[in-house]
Amino acid sequence: MKIIVCIKQVPDAKDVRLDPVTNTLAREGVQSIMNPYDQHALEEAVRLKEVHGGEVVAVTMGPPQAEEMLRLAISCGADTVVLVSDRAFAGADTWATSYTLEKALKKIGDYDLILCGKQAIDGDTAQVGPGLATRLGIPFVTCVQKVREATATGLVMERMMDDGYDVVAADFPLLATVVKDINEPRVPSLKGKMKAKKAEIITLSAADIGADTTCIGLPGSPTKVVDVFPPPARGERAVLEGSIDEQIEQLVDKLVPYL
Ligand SMILES: Cc1cc2nc3c(=O)[nH]c(=O)nc-3n(C[C@H](O)[C@H](O)[C@H](O)COP(=O)(O)OP(=O)(O)OC[C@H]3O[C@@H](n4cnc5c(N)ncnc54)[C@H](O)[C@@H]3O)c2cc1C
Repeated sequence: MKIIVCIKQVPDAKDVRLDPVTNTLAREGVQSIMNPYDQHALEEAVRLKEVHGGEVVAVTMGPPQAEEMLRLAISCGADTVVLVSDRAFAGADTWATSYTLEKALKKIGDYDLILCGKQAIDGDTAQVGPGLATRLGIPFVTCVQKVREATATGLVMERMMDDGYDVVAADFPLLATVVKDINEPRVPSLKGKMKAKKAEIITLSAADIGADTTCIGLPGSPTKVVDVFPPPARGERAVLEGSIDEQIEQLVDKLVPYL
């Protein structure tokens, strides 16, 4: 089974900064981590490989510093890692990101399964997975919480829903986005870290993937972030103290004037 995992490097939530000129996230010199959902996607790919054999390829579109995250992916069980990197990709919205990943995956060649995280903790749109599958013309299942069965031709999965889950079967090639409930990511082994140190990082530029320069980066992004600002502080807040009964009484007192 050949599994491609799309992983994104995101600013560590404690260190989010904005580029005041482009209104996009500053990524240079910022503490970065592997998007937490993608760690679960990578773990699921490695577990499927351990049972069914095959290869796990981790792919990221990002700046050169994303190499560090790809080495972490190797230490967690990925066999091959691909950095899709070019200054021309900067400022991409989800439309341009899914286009770039589509071109990169077509360059990488055949696969059975693509795994993505449900969403990235910075852009938070959850759009890239479904967008990429649509561009590749393959079926996709979002919010997968469990892979019940894997055969040579496809998967049976549980898709998380508000009121429980659906059981969904789909044939390869397919794309699935995963939620955190699907597994507990492993901690990199010493052997894995050693392998990661020596690992080759395959790097693909815009030219290498045959990208149309009008479809990538800021020029290729129909979505323009025109302004980013913290939400306005809401009205006066009150913390209710005491036993439940006392708190209910205080709450009623506060609500009565509004009735
Ligand atoms: C605060 C903020 C708000 C934004 N709002 C928007 C918006 O409203 N609309 C818009 O189009 N763009 C928006 N962007 C830009 C958006 O972050 C980028 O387009 C980004 O590359 C992909 O979108 P996402 O972060 O929402 O990822 P999601 O769609 O949430 O990511 C889902 C999954 O796709 C895969 N993936 C995502 N990016 C990559 C990558 N670079 N390499 C490999 N795999 C990847 C991962 O598996 C990830 O778990 C915003 C960015 C920021 C920082």
